[in-house]
Amino acid sequence: MLVLEEVSAAYDGVQVLHEVSLYLEHGEIVCVIGANGAGKTTILRTISGMLVPITGRIWFENARIDRLPPHMIARLGIAHVPEGRRIFDQLTVEENLRMGAFLLQSPRQVKEAFDQVYQIFPILAQRRNQRAGTLSGGEQQMLAIARGLMSNPKLLLLDEPSLGLAPKVIDMLFEVILTLNGLGKTILLVEQNASRALEIAHRAYVLEVGRITLSGPAKELQENEHVRRAYLGM
Ligand code: ATP
Repeated sequence: MLVLEEVSAAYDGVQVLHEVSLYLEHGEIVCVIGANGAGKTTILRTISGMLVPITGRIWFENARIDRLPPHMIARLGIAHVPEGRRIFDQLTVEENLRMGAFLLQSPRQVKEAFDQVYQIFPILAQRRNQRAGTLSGGEQQMLAIARGLMSNPKLLLLDEPSLGLAPKVIDMLFEVILTLNGLGKTILLVEQNASRALEIAHRAYVLEVGRITLSGPAKELQENEHVRRAYLGM
């Protein structure tokens, strides 16, 4: 579904990704684990078109996308749920969700998207007229993911969804990610919380200072000595 081939990226001439290659098959949950500043967010930004790679190629369903603007990439079926949620505090839950529906053409499609999202996140249906800034951290993260879903994407890019949430809330959130995957969404998850991410992912990559240093089935990485010591605190 998605292929990154030797993608390098930089900010103001400072290179932060070094020839990153990775792929996702339809229906997979793939995670990228790595320390603070390793370049995880930057990988997602190059995929969604917010950052143009300096070298390398990115394909989505056989179309080359690494020179396309973000709105065209979104139109192909990729939704990016950014780190820090970036919801609009002063707007209601429903108004935030409507923003995510900007690609949909007809009122019928918008209604279907709302119906689907409210079915997956009943708490958001209950709070639809509440201002987003008054939601709990976990609810705000649900809203950010739900907003991404409003465009009915095939691929969801999730940036650190567990950040700042209590363990119980993370449980719920990761259940939701599994549910979305069960509904056919392919998911690329980047996380500092390696132990939780490896529990739900099919495959994983380890990113260290902008380079992929390890990859394989998530179960194998959970057993890997270096991963256990460096990322799982064992
Ligand atoms: P975190 O978990 O802290 O978000 P990360 O693995 O997602 O870490 P990135 O956010 O991709 O890492 O950052 C990779 C490197 O690029 C870091 O050294 C960071 O300081 C730098 N960087 C990120 N965004 C910018 C920017 N807009 N301008 C300049 N440098 C940046």
